[in-house]
Amino acid sequence: MQVDEQGWLSEVYYYPSPNFDARPLGGKINLLVIHNISLPPGVWGAEDIIALFQNKLVSTRHPFYEQLKEQKVSSHFLIDREGEIYQFVSVFERAWHAGVSSFAGVDNCNDYSIGIELNGSDQQTFTEVQYRNLAILTNFLLHRFSDITLERIVGHADIAIPSGRKTDPGPCFDWIYYKKLLE
Ligand SMILES: [Zn+2]
Repeated sequence: MQVDEQGWLSEVYYYPSPNFDARPLGGKINLLVIHNISLPPGVWGAEDIIALFQNKLVSTRHPFYEQLKEQKVSSHFLIDREGEIYQFVSVFERAWHAGVSSFAGVDNCNDYSIGIELNGSDQQTFTEVQYRNLAILTNFLLHRFSDITLERIVGHADIAIPSGRKTDPGPCFDWIYYKKLLE
C-alpha cells in the first residue's frame, strides 16, 4: 500500500466525494475513527453508501433515506463485507464523518482524524476479511502517520457529543481482535 502526494491510496477503489474541505493549517493527523454504516439499515452493500457520500442517494429508494436528504457527509474510507476498500476523500483533506465531537479535550475530530466506515451494524458481527483488510489499512496509516498511536484509534461512539449520540462501530465490533492484528 502507498499514498500519493494528493493523499490517495494505491490498491483501493476511488469514489471521490464533494463533501470535504481543508484541514486546519499546520494541524496534525493523529486520530483514527472507526464507524459502521449500512444503507438501508441492516442491508449489506456499498452502492447506496457510495451514493450518499457523493450526494447522489435517491431518497425515494427507501423510507429511511428521507432523513438523509440534506446530509452532506463523507468518510475517507469504507470497507465492505468482502473486504474491498473504497476511498472518498484524500487523507490530507478533512472528511465529514465525526460530526460534533471531542477527543482528549480537543473538539472537532474531523480536523485531525481519518475516518474508516465498515459496512455493518450494531447488531451483526463483522466479517473476517473486513478485520483483515481493516488491519492492513490501519497498519499502513499507523506507519505513514506516526502521531496516530494505538491509543488514538477510537470508535465514533467514543468521541460523539453529546455522549450517546452515536453508537458505532457498536458492541459487535471486536476491539481486542482488531488490535491484535495491528503491528
Ligand atoms: Zn459513525
